[in-house]
Amino acid sequence: MEYVIRPESKITARHYDVVICGGGTGGVFAAIAAARAGAKTALIESKGYVGGIAAEGGCGLHSFFNLWKAFPGVEKRMVVRGIPEEMIQRLTQQRGASGHNDTVLRYEYDSDTLCVDVEVYKFVALEMLREAGVHVMLNTMAVDALVSGGRIQGVITESHQGCEAVMGKVFIDATGFGDLSARAGASYTEPNDYAVANSMGVGGIDIDKYYSFLRDNGALKEYARGPRDGRSNQIIRVDGDWENITEELGQKTRELGMHTVTTTLHDNYFMFIKLNYMMPKTPTDRDALADAEFELRRRQREALELLRKTIPGAENAFISRTAPTITIRRARCIECEYDISNEEILNATHFDDEIYSYGFHDYAPRFQVKNGGTYGVPYRAIQVKNLENLFAIGMMITSDHNAHMSTRNTVSCMAMGQAAGTAAALCAKQGISNVRDLSYSVLHDALVFANVWFDKEHP
Ligand SMILES: Cc1cc2nc3c(=O)[nH]c(=O)nc-3n(C[C@H](O)[C@H](O)[C@H](O)COP(=O)(O)OP(=O)(O)OC[C@H]3O[C@@H](n4cnc5c(N)ncnc54)[C@H](O)[C@@H]3O)c2cc1C
Repeated sequence: MEYVIRPESKITARHYDVVICGGGTGGVFAAIAAARAGAKTALIESKGYVGGIAAEGGCGLHSFFNLWKAFPGVEKRMVVRGIPEEMIQRLTQQRGASGHNDTVLRYEYDSDTLCVDVEVYKFVALEMLREAGVHVMLNTMAVDALVSGGRIQGVITESHQGCEAVMGKVFIDATGFGDLSARAGASYTEPNDYAVANSMGVGGIDIDKYYSFLRDNGALKEYARGPRDGRSNQIIRVDGDWENITEELGQKTRELGMHTVTTTLHDNYFMFIKLNYMMPKTPTDRDALADAEFELRRRQREALELLRKTIPGAENAFISRTAPTITIRRARCIECEYDISNEEILNATHFDDEIYSYGFHDYAPRFQVKNGGTYGVPYRAIQVKNLENLFAIGMMITSDHNAHMSTRNTVSCMAMGQAAGTAAALCAKQGISNVRDLSYSVLHDALVFANVWFDKEHP
């Protein structure tokens, strides 16, 4: 490898209380919470919109509720509230979300079905950030960190207007990839334990016909009903066991890494069809990632052909949306002060310093939180080890793969974002230099004030 020395240069510096890198699923809520709590807040996002995988790859948002239907007699409880639920209400009013609907079949996986229209989501998320007074830096990449004495002083960014330093008091890494933590010297692993994906929207394809086709072939696996194009009680989520239709179809979907579940809010539109690919290397490897981008677009074309041939009336289906880049289930796993285990999740463990409650597990029904209950995520779980003023949120925490299958889900990332943004704002306001020194009761009360639900306090 040949090296060059980059000359030092003088760059513009801007100052904030709270700086969040990554305006995706978790980062949006961190920024709104920080700004609402009175912090001068910057959100740095590399793409031209916010929302991340919630607006690109997440099929249904899992989950605001406990698994009440799977455990007869258990009370139905909305266990994530606060800003995430506020956004869902706003989206639903604008026909950008289905609201909460009972899952009819396969409710032991998620008893609630919530689908979003990704384009409305991108707009509403940005609208809420602007209303909160966040300085949203779109098309801006965080490329480096200025660190001294175990504290991040600033983030170096690149945008079309050049290189800048975004200085702050408290930082939140919400990049999914863990870019800020890695640049700041945090310890991390790269397990490469998931397939990467690109999801596509498919137009010219009828979800009712797909539902009937699966049902008539004895392949219907799950479905839910809700509002669709202004009419209630319509199919909004459906999936089937394609190998039950023919062995060949089962084989083909496996080869393509095609998840056949889809959600929608519109007639004649499959909002999400996911193609998956297991990369030979970690997604932080640039060239391997470029190969994967190509491979997934190739798979999308093949999957479209398969849908056209298989589903009645879909002969003229077309790809109407793809994610602009690959979506990952994880890249770097950042070492934090506490690492929640799958046993703690399954045993519905709550903690003295918890920041939100959660009840969904993506391996359900194999793994379910005991008795349809919830567990708590402790404040320590988002404090990055050896850095005084950095939180890591979203898919980057939790090293145990099985436990990660719970904490990484969209609604968990949203709740984590609200908690981190609130804590960051409190630290900045109170002049606390090490986030570990923030009084838990002050944080707890601020979260309760902002409508965060602590499930253990509502037996
Ligand atoms: C294919 C797929 C399907 C899924 N399906 C579901 C589902 O159906 N339901 C569910 O609940 N969960 C689902 N998940 C899981 C869930 O969507 C994710 O784990 C969660 O959204 C991750 O949120 P995040 O905030 O950690 O990351 P992201 O939402 O990815 O946000 C990271 C943001 O940071 C930005 N960024 C990255 N690097 C930089 C940088 N250096 N500078 C500036 N910005 C940067 C990115 O552009 C992005 O906007 C799915 C995940 C995948 C990949």
